[in-house]
Amino acid sequence: MTVGVLREPSFETRVALLPEHITILQKWKCDVIVEYDCGVQAFANNEAYTKSGALVLSRVEVLQKADVLLCIHPITHQDLSGFAGKVLIGQFQPLYHKDLVQHWADANKIMFSLDMLPRTTRAQSMDVLSSQANIAGYKAVILAAGKFPRYFPMFMTAAGTIPPAKVLILGAGVAGLQAIATARRLGAVVEVFDTRPAVKEEVMSLGGKFIEVEGAADASKAGGYAVEQSPEFIKRQKEKIAESVAKADIVITTAQIPGKKAPILIDDAMLGAMKAGSIIVDLAAATGGNTTCTKNNETAHINGVCIIGNSMLPSTMPFDASKLYGKNLLNFLQLFIKDGILNIDMNDDLVKGSCITENGCVVHPALIKKSEAI
Ligand code: NAD
Repeated sequence: MTVGVLREPSFETRVALLPEHITILQKWKCDVIVEYDCGVQAFANNEAYTKSGALVLSRVEVLQKADVLLCIHPITHQDLSGFAGKVLIGQFQPLYHKDLVQHWADANKIMFSLDMLPRTTRAQSMDVLSSQANIAGYKAVILAAGKFPRYFPMFMTAAGTIPPAKVLILGAGVAGLQAIATARRLGAVVEVFDTRPAVKEEVMSLGGKFIEVEGAADASKAGGYAVEQSPEFIKRQKEKIAESVAKADIVITTAQIPGKKAPILIDDAMLGAMKAGSIIVDLAAATGGNTTCTKNNETAHINGVCIIGNSMLPSTMPFDASKLYGKNLLNFLQLFIKDGILNIDMNDDLVKGSCITENGCVVHPALIKKSEAI
């Protein structure tokens, strides 16, 4: 069996597989072919792939010869029609690309999107959302610290005392928890909001202060994800967040609801009450953002407050991001590659749970039912 890796679109610096991952595929009796320069922006050149045992080919050749194609972003319609193999695996975000899903089905390939994996213990090693969100949470704090016109830690010096920076984190999922840990390591005081009271202990164990808002909707049956909240809860939460936002120096927002537009947690009035020189890094920018002024992949300046809407933070650390992404892919491939032969078992909950299209049809239940995706 032949596994192929394409060069990602020009805005992307990551690559789906690094040379270090290739030995494992070879042990599984797979040949690996990669597109010329696919890893160059992740500091993996063609020579490194060749040394690891991969064959470096043109894009057309990879599309024609690979049985399984590993990607990050969806490939173009043209590439899809040129792909002669059977299986595509990536982070295709089908809930946000509803217009493309039927086209993918029509191409009659088996497409797996790892962002749709059930969030179970067994899936953890394949969870691309986690490996990449971890990077985003870390980098959000580093980015904010770099732009912040003050220190993060407290300093008592002969010239005077510097108070610690106040960091507010909205949403304590994977990115939020990593942001708490990173901000604490830099010496900041950290406050945290989340609609899921279940995260309180994790927040406290990282040294953050969890701010509770009574009456959150029960999310226990949402697979660990948040659910939409009642207007009363949103009003109460808004009042509490407003108090914290006005005191904060740095705000990292990460609140998302899968397949929906991100909730607005910071409105114009709250932005107006923030101190000049404060920084917001909005990790929900790609799905609309958590502030009224977030612009995806742009930085906005409102009354001295800097709002960074960078939704490509994992791509700013292409080496580690690709290393973790590639390992996630290998752990997933292990489910159905045996002795160089593809054996896809749709009864496996992880295989089934991440399969988007098969036999010319859209098969994922979230996509068949979904009517409200943005
Ligand atoms: P996410 O990116 O979907 O959302 C980020 C956070 O924002 C979540 O914690 C969510 O509760 C919060 N949020 C949503 N709306 C909010 C609002 N209005 N106000 C404040 N906070 C709000 O989340 P994620 O990082 O992908 O993690 C989702 C869940 O999946 C978590 O419970 C996580 O522990 C779990 N998880 C499980 C696995 C696994 O077992 N394989 C792996 C990773 C994550």
